[in-house]
Amino acid sequence: MTENTNDPRDAHREEGFPAQEQDQPGHTAETHPDPDHGESSYVGHGRLEGRRALITGGDSGIGRAAAIAFAREGADVAIVHMPEEQADADDTVRLIREAGRQGVSLAGDVRDEGFATSIVSETRRQLGGLDVLVLNAGYQHDIEGFDALETDKMRRVFATNLEGMVYTARAAYPELPEGASIIVTASVQAYNPSPGLVDYAMTKAAQVAFVKALAQEAGSRGIRVNAVAPGPIWTPLIPATGWDEERLASFGQDTPLGRAGQPAELAGAYVYLASEESSYTSGTVLAVTGGKPL
Ligand code: NAD
Repeated sequence: MTENTNDPRDAHREEGFPAQEQDQPGHTAETHPDPDHGESSYVGHGRLEGRRALITGGDSGIGRAAAIAFAREGADVAIVHMPEEQADADDTVRLIREAGRQGVSLAGDVRDEGFATSIVSETRRQLGGLDVLVLNAGYQHDIEGFDALETDKMRRVFATNLEGMVYTARAAYPELPEGASIIVTASVQAYNPSPGLVDYAMTKAAQVAFVKALAQEAGSRGIRVNAVAPGPIWTPLIPATGWDEERLASFGQDTPLGRAGQPAELAGAYVYLASEESSYTSGTVLAVTGGKPL
């Protein structure tokens, strides 16, 4: 981790990232430099004491940062990941347990309705309940131009980011207790879409619509529903997107703060939306974008 200062422009790496590529889903060990998930910096204050959280895509990146923070705030945490990401999941579970909390990892594909549904009952069985649901699993790929959009890849984006999210939310919703919080990881792409991410940006805009619609229905049951919209964040998803050397070198530098963010810089947003500190906040989108307007 780079030295933390009060100046947000240089609180983390400022220069671009070296050329690299990997297959989807990306792995933390193959992502250089190491993303910062707050392992050595996040300090909990008991804000989620006794809560039980389920985080899809919690093995790496933004989901791992949320998992570490939740555990250090006193929550038990189940994470969901693809089977080929078991090594990342094991590291995250270890970090949850080192915080003195229960950590569970559930391997499978959220595009599979049966699996995306079963992770809810499995979390309730292993953690004794579920109060915080973070719908964070996501997939994106680079498209050279609209006519190069491949049907299979487009379907993977829609199925992962939309169908998987809905299956899990729908399975959890009927028995969520009052005080529960649902948090969706959307993106700045919902508001400021890049042509090379057209299918992905469409799903992120749809996630925002989902959050706003469900928040209206869920409010009468005492359940809050919100989104976090990250800007460019250094996670395994980025080298696995298929971007060239130039795009990686400049990743995040078009933000007002002039750099990409680290997963650790998202943790506070998830803790806030999961905790009672946001008791009057529902149906909103919290931007963590390095200053890029939504
Ligand atoms: P990441 O690769 O670390 O996490 C994505 C996770 O999604 C993976 O760990 C994987 O386990 C999970 N996943 C993907 N497809 C899955 C499937 N079919 N079944 C089960 N799990 C699956 O990358 P990240 O950047 O931390 O991504 C987390 C979320 O943040 C995603 O929704 C992404 O769209 C969003 N986001 C990322 C950025 C960024 O710049 N990194 C910006 C805006 C939004």
